[in-house]
Amino acid sequence: MLKKNDLVQLKITSTTAEGSGVGHTSDGMAVFVPMSATGDELSVKILKVKKTYAFGKLEEILTPSPARIEPDCPNFSKCGGCVWRHVSYSEECRIKEQKVRDAVERIGGINTEIKPIIACERTDRYRNKAQLPVGRDRNGKVQIGFYSFHSHRIVDCADCALQPEQFGEVIRITREFIDRYGVSVYDESTGKGRLRHLYLRCAEITGELMVCYVVNGNGLKNEDILIKNLREALPNLKTVVFNSNREKTNVILGSKNRVAYGEGVIEDELCGKRFCISPFSFWQVNRSQAEKLYTKALEYANLSGRENLLDLYCGTGTIGLTMADGCKTLTGVEIIPDAVCDAEKNAERNGVKNARFICADAPAAAEQLRQEGVSPDVVILDPPRKGCGEELVGTVAKMNPDRVVYVSCDPATLARDLKYFAERGYVTREVTPCDMFPRTAHVETVVLLSRKMPDDKIEVDLSLDELDITSAESKATYQEIKDYVLKEYGFKVSTLYISQVKRKCGIIERENYNHSHKENPHSSQCPKDKENAIRAALEHFGMI
Ligand code: SAH
Repeated sequence: MLKKNDLVQLKITSTTAEGSGVGHTSDGMAVFVPMSATGDELSVKILKVKKTYAFGKLEEILTPSPARIEPDCPNFSKCGGCVWRHVSYSEECRIKEQKVRDAVERIGGINTEIKPIIACERTDRYRNKAQLPVGRDRNGKVQIGFYSFHSHRIVDCADCALQPEQFGEVIRITREFIDRYGVSVYDESTGKGRLRHLYLRCAEITGELMVCYVVNGNGLKNEDILIKNLREALPNLKTVVFNSNREKTNVILGSKNRVAYGEGVIEDELCGKRFCISPFSFWQVNRSQAEKLYTKALEYANLSGRENLLDLYCGTGTIGLTMADGCKTLTGVEIIPDAVCDAEKNAERNGVKNARFICADAPAAAEQLRQEGVSPDVVILDPPRKGCGEELVGTVAKMNPDRVVYVSCDPATLARDLKYFAERGYVTREVTPCDMFPRTAHVETVVLLSRKMPDDKIEVDLSLDELDITSAESKATYQEIKDYVLKEYGFKVSTLYISQVKRKCGIIERENYNHSHKENPHSSQCPKDKENAIRAALEHFGMI
């Protein structure tokens, strides 16, 4: 029996997506070992034993995995950021692809090819934002850095390899200022002390830098000197903001900003559009990789210029706005009022005239829009980690878009939602992982879905008496469908339109229904609102 403190030799045979290797003891017990790699042969000290698995600590590398590299950051394994600094980037990409594949297959029950991950050209210095807690250690030494894994202990960090070098300069100047002027720093346990966080942003294309100090109060004594020091050292400094957060909370930013230098905003570019970024705005932290992600999303949206686009969870409107030139109308939905405000301003600054933004909960707004008869051709979904959920997926499916483009930051909730879509007739056509955050455990995914077509290959397992192909067709007459639509929707639909929708739904036309002289490539196509009404009738009569 394995016990705590045992020393075992293990061969690591697989890796979890969260950064642990997994090996098995001779009696079949799985042992999770952080910072190990597939192929490693290790000496491992057992830390905790559960019924069917255990956790261990790497004591010695006996034979290294071919994928192993030397970690190049002194804080690796201490701060809560990177988990893949000890393996090659190609190995990291393989693990991330596997994470997406596992989720889609096991949770989503979907068997589809996973496209190669869109890798990131830069694995260091790709972030444009940092949120650094400020504190003191037991000896009173100032600590500015990151929380360690699953804790609020600050790991001091003079320079993080994922961030621009100039953030290190801001840290240095701030540390010096705190020491020289005896600035009090915030203590989470007592709720006392002034300086809480450094919140930094820099724009990749314009080079503009924003420094925001989160303070338990209004500002800092001698802050003019601090600003002068920053301006002298950093010529690209565009603005300094003091954010006031007096709450005893884990939420970093408070609700009030005071601009102490500049305009309180910086500007950057994404897919040829200009965006204005305040401390509150959501902005992708890896800008150049976001461009690649959006380019893939645009490819999946396959716009011709005639589409009505619905962008749910739109943030400051970035995805939709980068697509606005290619579609007829754009409707964005976002729950945070400031983000909606930014989205409107961003539309204006880029001369986008076909967009509107709604501040609301996405599932509720989608249902409201559906009831108003809004029928988008393409829906973009970009929810937070918890995903869209069954209610929203149901509403989107009822809106009957031709295509759904789903951008996700959590493969598990994505896979769950793909299953909900599958149950409602939407097929996952293509899945592309995208590495927005090299060296960390995160992976983003973009997926194309579209409605199941009659000629889609499906595998069926039917007994003969279930095989009653004509029953669907004979359930309601064309007149009954017309009457139903008139009663429920208040408009008339033609036999031609009904037959078009029936064919789209895979209902086999009766042989004696002669449609050939009516339906030719030049005959008018059923408009979306009528198609939806006819589909509702077919559903009502149990034909689909
Ligand atoms: N599509 C944007 C933002 C994606 S992040 C971009 O790429 O930049 C997810 C967004 O969903 C955040 O802006 C968050 O505020 C918003 N959000 C979270 N819950 C929501 C809800 N219930 N309804 C609408 N928006 C929500």
